[in-house]
Amino acid sequence: MKVIVLGAGLIGVATAYYLWRDGHEVEVIDEQAQPASVTSYANACLISSSRALPWPTPAAAKTVWRALTDSSAPMRITKPFDPALWRWGREFMSYANAHDYKRLTRAKLSFARFCQTELEATLQDTGVDCGYQRDGLLYVCRSDATMTAARGRAALVAAHRYEMRVLTRDEVIALEPSLSSSTVVGGTLAVSDAQGDSRAFTRALAKWLTDQQQRPVRFTFGARAEARMTGGGRSCRIYGPNGELGADAYVVALGPKTRAFANSGWRVTGRIPIYPVKGYSATVPVKDASRAPQRGGICEDSLIAYCPLNTALGPVIRITTGAVFAGDDNGFADADFAPHREHFEALFPGALDWSSPAVEHWACQRPMTPSSLPIIQQDPYYDRLYWNCGQGHIGWTMSCGSGRVMADLIAGRTPSFDLSDMQQL
Ligand SMILES: Cc1cc2nc3c(=O)[nH]c(=O)nc-3n(C[C@H](O)[C@H](O)[C@H](O)COP(=O)(O)OP(=O)(O)OC[C@H]3O[C@@H](n4cnc5c(N)ncnc54)[C@H](O)[C@@H]3O)c2cc1C
Repeated sequence: MKVIVLGAGLIGVATAYYLWRDGHEVEVIDEQAQPASVTSYANACLISSSRALPWPTPAAAKTVWRALTDSSAPMRITKPFDPALWRWGREFMSYANAHDYKRLTRAKLSFARFCQTELEATLQDTGVDCGYQRDGLLYVCRSDATMTAARGRAALVAAHRYEMRVLTRDEVIALEPSLSSSTVVGGTLAVSDAQGDSRAFTRALAKWLTDQQQRPVRFTFGARAEARMTGGGRSCRIYGPNGELGADAYVVALGPKTRAFANSGWRVTGRIPIYPVKGYSATVPVKDASRAPQRGGICEDSLIAYCPLNTALGPVIRITTGAVFAGDDNGFADADFAPHREHFEALFPGALDWSSPAVEHWACQRPMTPSSLPIIQQDPYYDRLYWNCGQGHIGWTMSCGSGRVMADLIAGRTPSFDLSDMQQL
């Protein structure tokens, strides 16, 4: 079978790998110049399976109100009158109740565990090196209020078979001595969580697929894909810059741009329930390794995520924060990175060289669905069209598992993971 994958981010490249393993002829198309050039370029690099919690909680109304009214909140809504946001928000709020929270939590945490196992198997089978390190992730608290919430979250995920250790200040500092001059009051260690460079993974896996002797995967870059309905809406065709792309099946893995693709030319499905949620990422060289973190983590008070990475430029720390509902706007200004510096310095003072010309600023959008679970399914109307998108805030963690179940669907097998709780089109 010939399968064309649209999108060479984490999800598209992982999908290409599983399709290749099934013996298909696979081609990947992307409008950028190389893999992992958009959302997968500079995320927080945490394999935070234990953090795979749904965004619509029973307390969501309070979070939404703060997002609308508090310009210093980590989650902000800056385009409140966007009709797409209203549609998305209405469905989001329909899940913000105790029953759905329980159902979505169970589905998301167990899918994340399945996905992490698949990621580890892929790394093992291909030998791809992305600095994967499974030493646990540290969730640090600087106030009694966040410590109480962290205890509650630890109990919740422990009920789903995640090993969580609740730590005192001394225990946190024993694990991460460079936190000793901070005001950390305690934290939690998610024992099976891991870290790794998602850009390095995506690019190395794409190269591995290109280099295969048998059925090498073909990557075409600088090629924008469009969908068009024909025959009065009875069939759907996919076009690249040089005309129609012929294949037996197409997988749409366009991350935050999936909705724009679906609306390109003609509307492919009634609606794609994905809204782009912008986050800001700073990558900063390490100045003093003795003051820098040894493992990745999240500050529960400021919600900055940080991760040590080894790059060609030497050791750096990736720091991300922010969840901004700003429509398609993916721009950023220097001021957007002030919280990164303020909150990271409060934890690890003097570790980083903020004045280095190698500091890199970036903004990218999480492809969020209202339920916070991804869309992994065959299109309800067009047999040859498949959707693998909407992995949201946790697409690095979910990349390989999502690729595997997509390959199951295309092969006509029962999916290796039950997809009944996933977001539906
Ligand atoms: C700030 C931030 C921090 C994050 N941290 C983490 C983390 O620590 N752990 C984690 O698990 N997840 C994290 N995520 C989430 C994760 O990065 C995303 O879920 C993931 O990168 C999405 O991958 P993707 O392949 O769906 O999208 P993308 O990486 O955006 O790939 C989509 C590709 O489609 C291409 N494309 C789009 N439209 C077209 C078109 N019409 N024609 C051709 N090509 C097209 C684009 O060029 C792009 O290459 C984070 C996200 C953000 C924003």
